[in-house]
Amino acid sequence: MPPEPQTTFTKNNPATGEPLGMYSIASSEQVNEAIEQAHKAQKIWKNVSLSTRKSFLQSTAKALMTEVDAWAQLISAETGKPLKDAIETDMTLAVSVLNYYSQIGPKLLKEKRYQLDQSFLLGLVHYERRVPKGVVAIISPWNFPLAIPMSGIAAALMSGNTVILKPSELTPGCGERIGELIRSVLKQFNLPENIFQVLTGEGSTGQNLIDGRINYCVFTGSAPTGRKIQTQLAQRGIESSLELGGSCPMIILESEPDLDAATSYAVWSRFVNTGQACAAVKRLYVPSSRYNIVVSLLREKINQLNQGLPDDPLTHLGPLINETQRDLIARQVVETLAKGAQAETGGSVPERPGWYYPPTLLSHVPLDSPVLTEETFGPVLPVVPYDTIEEVIEMANNTPYGLTGCVFGEEKEAEAIARKLDTGIIAINGVGMTNYGFASLPWGGRKDSGPGVSHSPQALLDTTNTQTLTKNLMYGFAPLKKPPWLFNHSGAPQDLAFSKAILRVFGGKGWLAKLDLAMLIGLIRNRSSKRL
Ligand code: NAD
Repeated sequence: MPPEPQTTFTKNNPATGEPLGMYSIASSEQVNEAIEQAHKAQKIWKNVSLSTRKSFLQSTAKALMTEVDAWAQLISAETGKPLKDAIETDMTLAVSVLNYYSQIGPKLLKEKRYQLDQSFLLGLVHYERRVPKGVVAIISPWNFPLAIPMSGIAAALMSGNTVILKPSELTPGCGERIGELIRSVLKQFNLPENIFQVLTGEGSTGQNLIDGRINYCVFTGSAPTGRKIQTQLAQRGIESSLELGGSCPMIILESEPDLDAATSYAVWSRFVNTGQACAAVKRLYVPSSRYNIVVSLLREKINQLNQGLPDDPLTHLGPLINETQRDLIARQVVETLAKGAQAETGGSVPERPGWYYPPTLLSHVPLDSPVLTEETFGPVLPVVPYDTIEEVIEMANNTPYGLTGCVFGEEKEAEAIARKLDTGIIAINGVGMTNYGFASLPWGGRKDSGPGVSHSPQALLDTTNTQTLTKNLMYGFAPLKKPPWLFNHSGAPQDLAFSKAILRVFGGKGWLAKLDLAMLIGLIRNRSSKRL
């Protein structure tokens, strides 16, 4: 007999390794049932007015704000990040993305009437409608367990889709809590609770969701999983938005006047969230002439970082999310050291409970080291010297990823170089990861970091299909009821002259000026009553 499928899983506290809770694994039957319920609820939700949907998002943001401490504690317990980071990086974005889509949603989704063009001459008016795609699956990672899912949820709900969230198996409590939050607001609005559903589980639950009758998928996670999902959905003609990994290069230029400030940015961007951010600075390139001073400044700053329990107010960085991620980072560092790199700080797994890995600074890193060629999802900063600008641009772009990139130095020079980086987000004298905090900016990468866009008008419109509505205003007017293109072949040479007159109207500017004699004769000869 085949073994019974597993129906639950345990979530452990990353800071202690102790169990935090048990969660269910949604089976394929449960997934399909949720999808059917979502389709039913969508028939109601899509007809709810834009102003009600706007208020709904605003009420969700308000409800989130009433429970800041409880949310911060839950996020911190599940991920191991300090409470301060849970508030600043997760909650701030979640609230702002809800408010942003509530503000721009009604304007972007309103029917648009098309202004004068050639078709107006023919008595036609057109409207562009934005209709929801239907049931949207949102599959999320664990590193920002509130901010990332909420970005997709706010956009998809605003445009009238129903949503099924599959949170990461490493942050199932945050996923369930998002479900409770949104259901409580749906209840206030007397709306069906199946407008939003949460299915906990592992990769298999996500796979069942992908295999089901969904209409769109917003996936954030690793490149291999994202590519697999994209291929499977594309075969069924279903679109997806993918936000995948990153390997952000940071270039410090010879012209940088303030190495203290530039290295502070590098340290924050690399070690916040214990280095577990898609957009974190993952490779630092420094002019050879300033290499030693930069390494020594970094060493000094990194030695002052406190790694500890997430609820200790002095903690800068907590543990990694689990043993697998810690083993992965440890392997990448061991292999890099074996190639000849030097650990200026950290570099080995500490003896303590929980999944800790120390903030690690690596110098003299060979270019074929795993910490440069792979995504490092942990607190490891490799520093690489360069001699020419051409060389550093080549090294920065030599990665399968293309999410963020940044350059520090004299502003004009830094901008010229930043514009040559093959990434979706570039920053000059700042780091690209902060852009994620601004819901109005498009967030997306190239190569193995995408394709897909979060935030901005585009992410909202991506959850809709376009429907063009055309009205024939002449239909009620007998002399022009049948337009000139309906069948009417007399065989006379004027037929072609009329076709050419029509072509001139379409082919040039100022259509009124093109209403020439051939057109006039054609209109009389081809009048409505004579058409087949
Ligand atoms: P992951 O790919 O392992 O998992 C992501 C989600 O996919 C999880 O919910 C998981 O259960 C689900 N999943 C796994 N297999 C599946 C399948 N076959 N079908 C459907 N769903 C499946 O990624 P992760 O480890 O949770 O996240 C870390 C990665 O996410 C990193 O590479 C990071 O750079 C990336 N990330 C990218 C962004 C961005 O905005 N570009 C943001 C955050 C994280």
